[in-house]
Amino acid sequence: MKLSDIPVSIAADAIAANAAARSTPVASVQTTCPYCGVGCGVRAQRHADGTVEVAGDPSHPANAGRLCVKGSALAETVDLNDRLLHPQWRAADGTLRQASWDEALDRAASGLRDIIARHGPESVALYVSGQLLTEDYYVANKLMKGFIGTANIDTNSRLCMSSAVAGHKRAFGEDIVPGCYEDLELADLVVLVGSNTAWCHPILFQRLAKAKADRPQMKLVVIDPRRTATCDLADLHLPVRPGTDVWLFNGLLHHLHREGAIDAQFVQAHTDGDDALAAALQAAAGEADVAAVARACKVDPTDLLTFYQWFAGTPRTVTAFSQGVNQSSAGTDKVNSIINCHLLTGRIGKPGMGPFSLTGQPNAMGGREVGGLANMLAAHLELAEPRHRELVQTFWDAPAIADRPGLKAVELFEAIEQGRIKAVWVMATNPVVSLPDADQARRALQRCELVIASDIVTRTDTNDSAHILLPALGWGEKDGTVTNSERRISRQRAFLPAPGEARADWWIVCQVARRMGFAGFDYGSPREIFDEHARLSAYRNHGEAGGEQAVPRAFDIGGLAGLDARGYDMLQPVQWPVRAGGNGTARLFADGGFSHPDRRARFVATAPRKPVHATDEDYPLILNTGRVRDQWHTMTRTGKSARLAEHLPEPFVDMHPQDALLCGVAEGRLARVSTRWGAMVVRVRHGGGIPRGSVFVPIHWNGQYSSDARVGALVNPAVDPVSGEPEFKHTPVRVDPFPVSWHGFALARDTLDCGALTWWTRVTGRQFQRYEFAGRESVGDRAGWARQLLGATDAEADWIEYEDRSAGVYHAALVVDDRLQACVYVSTRPDLPARAWLGGLFAKGQLSDDDRIGLLIGQAAEPGVDAGPTVCSCFGVGRNTICDAIREHGLGSAAEITACVKAGGNCGSCVPELNALLAAAKADRDEPVFAG
Ligand code: SF4
Repeated sequence: MKLSDIPVSIAADAIAANAAARSTPVASVQTTCPYCGVGCGVRAQRHADGTVEVAGDPSHPANAGRLCVKGSALAETVDLNDRLLHPQWRAADGTLRQASWDEALDRAASGLRDIIARHGPESVALYVSGQLLTEDYYVANKLMKGFIGTANIDTNSRLCMSSAVAGHKRAFGEDIVPGCYEDLELADLVVLVGSNTAWCHPILFQRLAKAKADRPQMKLVVIDPRRTATCDLADLHLPVRPGTDVWLFNGLLHHLHREGAIDAQFVQAHTDGDDALAAALQAAAGEADVAAVARACKVDPTDLLTFYQWFAGTPRTVTAFSQGVNQSSAGTDKVNSIINCHLLTGRIGKPGMGPFSLTGQPNAMGGREVGGLANMLAAHLELAEPRHRELVQTFWDAPAIADRPGLKAVELFEAIEQGRIKAVWVMATNPVVSLPDADQARRALQRCELVIASDIVTRTDTNDSAHILLPALGWGEKDGTVTNSERRISRQRAFLPAPGEARADWWIVCQVARRMGFAGFDYGSPREIFDEHARLSAYRNHGEAGGEQAVPRAFDIGGLAGLDARGYDMLQPVQWPVRAGGNGTARLFADGGFSHPDRRARFVATAPRKPVHATDEDYPLILNTGRVRDQWHTMTRTGKSARLAEHLPEPFVDMHPQDALLCGVAEGRLARVSTRWGAMVVRVRHGGGIPRGSVFVPIHWNGQYSSDARVGALVNPAVDPVSGEPEFKHTPVRVDPFPVSWHGFALARDTLDCGALTWWTRVTGRQFQRYEFAGRESVGDRAGWARQLLGATDAEADWIEYEDRSAGVYHAALVVDDRLQACVYVSTRPDLPARAWLGGLFAKGQLSDDDRIGLLIGQAAEPGVDAGPTVCSCFGVGRNTICDAIREHGLGSAAEITACVKAGGNCGSCVPELNALLAAAKADRDEPVFAG
């Protein structure tokens, strides 16, 4: 199957038709999605009236025109609400004051300079992000490692894929993903490990689904403790006990060896050979027996053997892995246990074969290329190697060069709290939400002498501790490059004007560097930075050009050096290496040529070990954290989209019904989820495919969206000893009831202050904000309380009210000029009115009498208009609509649902849920009916 066979999205066609009907756009670009590591191409337009339209870019090799629901909703996230538009600094009384750029930059530069003068370069740090563009990352890394002279620059990419980096470096000698997306389509067996690809890399999953539909003999195995949406496509799901991946792949290594399913020629020619293999097998001696592995992993031995046999018998095999592998105290060993199996079978760098790390962020790979991690130098060079340091220092003409690894993310925030780091500059990330033991991160920032934050929004849980706030450009405004999971460099292009005084991150870094007295930061554009980055990648890279001083490495984009402004502007997506005169490289290592000095790959002995913290009587369950389908990171952008909020609007803990029963909690009720590090209050949910003994909590919610839902505060700070990546997938946890005496929700056009309530969460709606809340103290004067909450202080306000004291029910609505301004519903029971119909009233220019009656009773006066909770975010199709269509029209497949009600017809992310609804409907139909 060719990628070009994939149909361009329906949304793209619709947008194109719309665009044709509008005025000519004032700006139109091909750019790249800012969310996941798939790195989809986007066509974005800005019209004279300020409206923005986006569609998938049919010419981009990653997505060929498709976008998932997050990418499709990009236009809904570019408004200026909450934006940080001017530099600010915090006065002694805690208030923020606006500053000029000169003042803010001088404060930042002199603050850093002063602390360095008093305490040395190791007393300052940068904490950056996979959201930065490569050019931003490059200058930040150059400033720290080459001019300030410390490697205390780490990135939030440490939290998601540093174990893959470490595993690649150990096996290949360099951080390299050997294959490309097409390999997942060409493979006869795809193994997805610790990856809910359907939700976290949706377009790649759609490519896989299309390939499997075209070649039904292609097999998919999913290895994941949870039965996620990805399992819907799987031929085999191995629900391993959390943290046991090394057991499983060590067992596979033994099976392959025992069965002779090896590529002896490849092993002899391109690896460190029999002794190293023998050592790896010896370290895995406990996994020589399939039954023992099945017991350790808690999977069915027959299923396990089936997987081993499929792997052994299928030359074209790709093993793709993601956070479920990386985010572990044994993450690096997990990666190497997978790579070992591919080295043994010689399945690497060939069409349809190879280990494949799926990166989380849009530019995690770009950050790795420029050395954005504290233990790396730029251009895939090593801090620990004197020749490498000399190379970079010479190229940069730098006064200093860091000579030892800096502090990795978790260590860095420990050092801040301990006072060893006295100044930190946080760029484009939100560590008070996203780090493990996140309350520690907050304490650390509150104690830090100088906290600088570059961000696009004013209020985040992190920015609340900043002394200086620097307004950065966001997606659509900034210009540069990103690299996706398959090493493909793409341009992000600006099509929106810079709002307020916001400036590019690279400009801000260079301005501070110059004010600190450093030369070498006189760039006039991101193109000049990219050119230097490209030249450094080729500098002394090859024997001929580099002579005896050459340090060969695969990362080489010398072919992109020397681009003029037009060439940079026109740069087309290309996979590195791009050597001088070359056109990019889809695959590496088919014929060896690894980056270790002897050009051979390494088998790494991976003795299995358990997660650092075990469950016990007090904390009997395992906390697993991760993403949901329609949100991204800490919601600073996706949280603005009503469409994206509709799928899973509230923070939740997903747990098995039997565990919920044992914990005394019930679906839909609030529960307190606590660990030894912190606690949160969220609603209980079932249905996420969670096994007994585990719970799942999403990573996205934070203090801006909920009173008490930062799951990072609960996560244990144990890290992998090699990569420093935290153990986000395994923290002992307990779940207890969170009793409240009443429940309620409000919908309002204006922001409400719910700070005094026991528990609340906010959801973005179409033309309104929705607040869910609950309280412990009974409210005496409900009308007075409701009027104050909704801002109806005028006694003459058009106020509709209903109260049933004996039932503990109170409903009220504020109407202004015949339009609904706000409404509130409170009850002592949690079964409150459905929100969807009430939300629809905000779109009405004038309320009818029936609407007013509906407001009082909390539902439409006319039955049958409640679509139910949203399943398909692209077309806004609710569960009730889909279930009605299945029942009334006898629909039997997702395709039939799409044809009938459109759901599933764009990005396809909801197809697994459509299949679940079909299965539930079938189960209902098949249920035997007994006569009474
Ligand atoms: Fe963006 Fe979705 Fe593509 Fe990821 S799969 S890059 S989130 S459009």
